[in-house]
Amino acid sequence: MTDYYTPTMRLYIDRLADWEGYLRLRNGGTPDVDAEVGAYRTVLETTAQLAASLERRAREDWHLEAELTPDGGARPPAHIREAYQELCEAGLVSLTVSEAYGGAALPTLVNGMFMEMMSRADASLFTLVGLQNGAANDIERYASEELKQLWLPRFVSGEALGSMDLTEAKAGSDLGGITTRVTEQPDGTVRVDGTKIFITNGGADVHLVLARDGDSYDQSKGTTNGLSLVLVPWKLEDGRRNGVRVPRLEHKLGIHGSPTCEVLFENAVGYRLGAKGQGFRAMLDLMNNARLGVAEQSVGVASAAFHEARRYAGEREQFGQPVAKQPLVVAMLAKMAINVESARSLLYRTFALIDKNTAREAALRRGDLPADEAAKLQLALDHDLARVRLLTPLCKYYGTEICPDVTRDAMQIFGGIGYTMDADVAKLHADSLIMTIYEGTSEIQASFALREMGKGGLAGALAHLKDELGAISGDAKRAELAMLVGTLLGRIQQCAQVLFTDLPYALLRAKMIAEMVINAKCATELLHQVGADAARVDLAEAFIRRRVIESEALAKRIEQNPVGRLERDARILASYAAAD
Ligand SMILES: Cc1cc2nc3c(=O)[nH]c(=O)nc-3n(C[C@H](O)[C@H](O)[C@H](O)COP(=O)(O)OP(=O)(O)OC[C@H]3O[C@@H](n4cnc5c(N)ncnc54)[C@H](O)[C@@H]3O)c2cc1C
Repeated sequence: MTDYYTPTMRLYIDRLADWEGYLRLRNGGTPDVDAEVGAYRTVLETTAQLAASLERRAREDWHLEAELTPDGGARPPAHIREAYQELCEAGLVSLTVSEAYGGAALPTLVNGMFMEMMSRADASLFTLVGLQNGAANDIERYASEELKQLWLPRFVSGEALGSMDLTEAKAGSDLGGITTRVTEQPDGTVRVDGTKIFITNGGADVHLVLARDGDSYDQSKGTTNGLSLVLVPWKLEDGRRNGVRVPRLEHKLGIHGSPTCEVLFENAVGYRLGAKGQGFRAMLDLMNNARLGVAEQSVGVASAAFHEARRYAGEREQFGQPVAKQPLVVAMLAKMAINVESARSLLYRTFALIDKNTAREAALRRGDLPADEAAKLQLALDHDLARVRLLTPLCKYYGTEICPDVTRDAMQIFGGIGYTMDADVAKLHADSLIMTIYEGTSEIQASFALREMGKGGLAGALAHLKDELGAISGDAKRAELAMLVGTLLGRIQQCAQVLFTDLPYALLRAKMIAEMVINAKCATELLHQVGADAARVDLAEAFIRRRVIESEALAKRIEQNPVGRLERDARILASYAAAD
């Protein structure tokens, strides 16, 4: 088994992340960088060992389903409960919560690596720990001090798990359809009534529920105005049951160990997160966090499939030699590695930027900077928050799209046995197929990215990439590749001029422009990696040469038929309607 603490993770921890700058801004004063980074390494080494030890049982018990409990709740199967217990005993839950509430306050980048390892071992277990951390983060950011004191230490100890309750029968991608109602109470609490569906970990101790305010219910119906995010505990503090229960579980194609629940709220006691009317902002933070989480989950599953396929191809002999010697198999394996590493590069880049922003926010909150420095920092923060708003849907889109591609290639490399449940790769493929759907489908991510691009995000991203590529010098190969990526930036700009003149056409091509931008961003980050580790040049070159060609094809498709394309599709479909 390969080490879960991968060379790429080590590269970012040891060389690429600017820990000194991060810690100086976050903590003030002169940080003990060696001690802090040493602690990050210890967490990752411990996680790597623990995650690797969980892998075998996770695959053997993969088919075991989550179950309803006699108290009206739901729980994962035994192997996941036991694995979770091990994580709690090792202190490896809710790792980003602040020290003030007993947490480890780990940077997002380190937490992302932790999550990737969890997912590589067990994508179902990942859903529990991922949501737990996401819920804890949102509580820390938006809840009252009283609620934070009450809940965050329980999240850190592992006593409390969380869930994110948004989806309803008529509110999937469009959360404007939410009908769950929040009613104000004289004591400052609220009551929640309604039914949510597809809720991961619906038996959780703490539900973060998106619901519509009762006093503006009719006026706001059908829109995302008037929504509140409400913390609804499973049990009340006096030990009584709250009005929450799980009437049924879904039976799914994969992630069987992750409880996917219908959740009923009946006069359930709740507490607002954030002021009234700001629920959508708290929810967006929660969702964006979850989107990056699913991107990380995808990289974890894809990486598991790649390592399985690589091992098998080396062992399986046909025509008198391991199939790993066949050029077509080599090409498939290399493509898998390139897909995993490029998605990982985009994510790590995004996590590092989020950490920088968090550190800037902490510095501004401390208020010990001279006014002109604070103003500059605020400007840089606003600028980079906008960058993260574009990067987040791109990470979710790309990570989740490459995942089933990689797991399918892994099945192909396993041949016939890959299609049976004797091989782990079929299980990984089944798990991979949810990624492009939950936490916002690929179509929704591409449309969000398009919207951010239209609001100036594209111009900003291209300017940044241009600067970064321009700064690449020295090594001739790296400089040549940087030039090649530079040509791609020009093509993106040309396509944008065609796209942004017509919104329906832009929406039709949202995935294409997103892919072109992803290609440019990953290419630049892979070249950045080469600067720290020259041995990575082959992977970067393979990615760039392939993706520049593919991007040119996308550019031609965007440019060639902006007029009449939607109508042509409509005519194709209408011909079927006539035959029905
Ligand atoms: C296993 C599992 C776990 C889940 N966990 C949770 C959870 O913990 N919490 C929670 O709240 N929800 C959860 N969900 C729900 C999940 O987030 C939704 O299923 C998802 O957002 C899609 O919504 P939908 O199923 O209603 O699809 P729909 O919104 O009905 O979409 C149907 C199709 O139309 C496309 N579409 C819709 N609108 C647009 C548009 N504007 N532009 C382009 N295409 C569009 C979609 O991409 C999709 O292809 C989970 C779902 C599953 C299956």
